[in-house]
Amino acid sequence: MKILVINAGSSSLKYQLIDMDGEVVVAKALCERIGIDGRFTHKTGDGRVVTKEVAMPDHTAAFEQVKLALTEGEGKVIDSLSEVSAIGHRVVQGGSKYDKSVRIDAKVLADIEGYSSLAPLHNPAHVQGINAAVAAFGKDVPQVAVFDTAFHQTMPAKAYMFGVPYEYYQKYGIRRYGFHGTSHRFVSARCCELLGKPDGKGTRIITCHLGNGSSIAAIKDGKVVDTTMGLTPLDGFLMGTRSGALDPSVVTFLMEKEDLSPEEMDNILNKKSGMLGISGVSSDDRDIAKAVEEGNDRAKLAWDMRTYEIVKYIGGYVAALGGVDAIVFTAGIGENQIDLRREILSSFGYLGLKVDEQANDCRGKEREITTADSAVRAFVIPTDEELVIARDTQALIG
Ligand code: AMP
Repeated sequence: MKILVINAGSSSLKYQLIDMDGEVVVAKALCERIGIDGRFTHKTGDGRVVTKEVAMPDHTAAFEQVKLALTEGEGKVIDSLSEVSAIGHRVVQGGSKYDKSVRIDAKVLADIEGYSSLAPLHNPAHVQGINAAVAAFGKDVPQVAVFDTAFHQTMPAKAYMFGVPYEYYQKYGIRRYGFHGTSHRFVSARCCELLGKPDGKGTRIITCHLGNGSSIAAIKDGKVVDTTMGLTPLDGFLMGTRSGALDPSVVTFLMEKEDLSPEEMDNILNKKSGMLGISGVSSDDRDIAKAVEEGNDRAKLAWDMRTYEIVKYIGGYVAALGGVDAIVFTAGIGENQIDLRREILSSFGYLGLKVDEQANDCRGKEREITTADSAVRAFVIPTDEELVIARDTQALIG
């Protein structure tokens, strides 16, 4: 069975075609600059690459390119679209209603659209992606929504409520939702297997998804009890270009002093802050690490701020969980940034955690990075959100 996994953004569309017999990626691609000038890159599992500049005025046009790339020309991987059994969509915001993946019908689609006020950059694009997929593949191909927020729905109210008047929760759904749930779910489930407790019972795990966007989750008995991202993916700690949590007065103060509109303020917090804003160098961690090595003080400050904030969150979650069995690192930075992992973990010597320096010297591979006598275990576990989406899709279509 082949499943197409779609991640539709406002001006991009990523896909993976996964053959569920062996869970092999048959092809993956990125349609960029939709509605601008259009760039398309399609790679097959056996190493063929097709790139082209092609106008894609909207998501429907992007899906036309997807269809062509899969079935024709140099990157062809299937004879006909009928080989695609189902389509799984990444959906960022599923609100309080969706605590698991679902088959998409008119009601689900309306809900996804309805949550657009909570995720204005993402949910409208998902709706466009779903509609374009129906137009391209027909109504009979089942479609499934896999929500970034779903895995975090087990959080208790004391963790997900914000201390603003309760009526705003009732009126607008203002609360912590958490994101990257698909990734936290995948790596925590794998961690439970590595701990020899595949059902998760009796486990206390802290998962650190550290990428361009980053979040940490505290997971007890396989269920999330707290996470760093909030109403939107802006909350938490310093990310590539996002500020993470700060004194809310900073926002009103700056809006007043700089005469900023809500949109301008949002842009500063989401696009100009974080590692980029503090360092003035880059949002990319490799550039920051290089600048630190070269003695750039602001890059070093950004690096140290982030490490400190991560350590504080992990420490808080150790308390929330009543101890910790394992800490997991994943995503671009978590899987590859050896020095950052060492710095973070060395703060937990007081818990009896001992880093295995040699084991930690690894990138992008599953590995236990603590010593055999460490009281708390730590792992690098590469994430695979597309595979989770494909598995959920397969499970839901039966
Ligand atoms: P993601 O959002 O998960 O794709 O992660 C993107 C981040 O991972 C960027 O800041 C990259 O600099 C960082 N990253 C990716 N590969 C490496 C690597 N080999 N070493 C250090 N950082 C990396």
